[in-house]
Amino acid sequence: MSAQILDGKAIAAQTRAAVKAQVAARLGAGGRAPGLAVVLVGENPASQVYVRNKRKACAEVGFHSEQHALPATTSQAELEGLIDRLNADPLIDGILVQLPLPTHLDTEAITERILPTKDVDGFHPYNLGRLALRMPLLRPCTPKGVMTMLARTGQDLAGLDAVIIGQSNIVGRPMALELLAARCTITVCHSRTRDLAGKVRGADLLVAAMGRARFVPGDWIKPGALVIDVGINRDADGTLVGDLDYGPCAERAAWITPVPGGVGPMTIACLLENTLQAAQLHGARPDGE
Ligand code: NAP
Repeated sequence: MSAQILDGKAIAAQTRAAVKAQVAARLGAGGRAPGLAVVLVGENPASQVYVRNKRKACAEVGFHSEQHALPATTSQAELEGLIDRLNADPLIDGILVQLPLPTHLDTEAITERILPTKDVDGFHPYNLGRLALRMPLLRPCTPKGVMTMLARTGQDLAGLDAVIIGQSNIVGRPMALELLAARCTITVCHSRTRDLAGKVRGADLLVAAMGRARFVPGDWIKPGALVIDVGINRDADGTLVGDLDYGPCAERAAWITPVPGGVGPMTIACLLENTLQAAQLHGARPDGE
């Protein structure tokens, strides 16, 4: 068997085009452009690239976007003050604080400071709680992107045995909640899991989100499985690779996501969707009407 490829680049382009069309309709009806504020603290080069890409994506769909680049020495009080101002700004619908923050800052307190209806990353306990209770509002972008891709397979997910490798707050846990809501039976694996190979071998649906280059070998994949690779790693020679040993896994899977060009592009597309959704929650005019 040779897997069909879930082309994240193509699906993300369609998502972005749909957002762009809705923004144009909103402006045509006299509404304002959705607004995203991106907050970057310090000079982490990878974060600078992510922020640049997010702002470029915003411009392409017609969003208002602004960047707040703060020095690495910014205090908790200063950052919270900025969040408070953005929370109150009627032209800003989404606030994204690029992680990781410098270690002297309290990431959880900053995440909770963001108004839940402006939490376009979907990381606020309010939004994760709503997902857990099957009443989602703003959903974490990467797992949401995975669900959009899985929908493209046309396969009914209900009843599938789903295995997730990774239990982080931003990928593994919300991924488990998404798949549970889709009526899969869930196993969440992590570094203390016993017999990881045995668990993965039973998976009708596998999401690898561990951050270990080419960790999952082909013979762990159940023939005909849906296989999603969230991992983004650099190989010893600098090549971008996922958590799967892609070639052998693709031999056995029915569907598979490549790296690059798989889940990665979906994450930014879902951030745009979330910002548009937040703008709809806040109303078309600055006064919220
Ligand atoms: P993370 O916070 O480091 O979490 C990694 C998880 O994998 C942890 O739960 C860890 O277990 C588990 N793990 C690590 N080694 C393992 C092993 N040998 N066996 C079983 N489980 C193991 O990472 P993350 O933020 O969730 O990101 C995961 C990967 O996805 C990274 O490569 C990241 O770059 C990528 N990512 C991609 C996107 C995208 O847009 N495509 C978005 C976000 C993240 P413990 O909890 O026990 O430590």
